[in-house]
Amino acid sequence: MIKRILLPCFFTLTGLCLQGQPSVLPDSLLAHVRELSADRYQGRRTQEAGNLMAGDYLLIRFQAMGLRPFDSSFVQPFQFYNRWLKESLTGRNIVGYVQGTAHPDQYIVLSAHYDHLGVRNDQIYNGADDNASGTGALLEIARYFSQHPPQHSILFAAFDAEELGLQGAASFVDEPPVPLGNILLDINMDMISRNVKNELYICGTKYTPSFRAPLEKLGENSPISIVFGHEEPEPRGMDDWTMSSDHGRFHQKGIPFLYFGVEDHEDYHQPTDDFDRVMPDFYVNAANFILESLLLLDEKL
Ligand SMILES: [Zn+2]
Repeated sequence: MIKRILLPCFFTLTGLCLQGQPSVLPDSLLAHVRELSADRYQGRRTQEAGNLMAGDYLLIRFQAMGLRPFDSSFVQPFQFYNRWLKESLTGRNIVGYVQGTAHPDQYIVLSAHYDHLGVRNDQIYNGADDNASGTGALLEIARYFSQHPPQHSILFAAFDAEELGLQGAASFVDEPPVPLGNILLDINMDMISRNVKNELYICGTKYTPSFRAPLEKLGENSPISIVFGHEEPEPRGMDDWTMSSDHGRFHQKGIPFLYFGVEDHEDYHQPTDDFDRVMPDFYVNAANFILESLLLLDEKL
């Protein structure tokens, strides 16, 4: 089998490979993660200054690439009660969309949370993999579609307060900017930048089996291994990822989801989840596979 990675590929400024293979821009993708996981963002904890900086970073880029806002703003603030802190907190989802050419009223949501754990015991939890990686891919895939409009509308959602109980996604599905019935699917990215086994998991096809075969086939041409699973209920709930990230809130509302992510590593929820642990080739290949999956599903839905 000829793997795509063996083919020489020259990127244009639009993100379209000259050989016709759709692609994110690797340098931009990595630059987003380097930036968002820098110490000055202080671990992007909801409501804190570093988190607001990260939200502004996304907002400026959504604007610059010409995404459309809902109700004239990319910012969707929400409040929630935090049981551990026993206080009410305010988060901000950053949301925009590209209008579909054939089905403008039908939406595919692409989501990633941008918040992380903040600072604990004077140590900054930079959350490079969790989840600056998904956030960077969200930005680069949004840029691709802003330049190559899809058939269905694609809604790009950078969720806040995932680490505090999937709160941003909960607020989004409770007060959606478009009718929930018009959302066909949520594709959620959380931790996609490193894996020593070269494996990227897709979770969710158990609930929507028709997605499995086309994604499996697409995976055969990817330089990384595409693996399905982590969706079977079992007694302790550790291995079932159905509710492990924001896609769970869509699932609770009966909306199909696909979650892309890697298995936990030694830096998961540690202050060592830093940019220098990202595996650039794996990350670029994962982001490109997610872009290709989105193109395929846009075609098939
Ligand atoms: Zn996390």
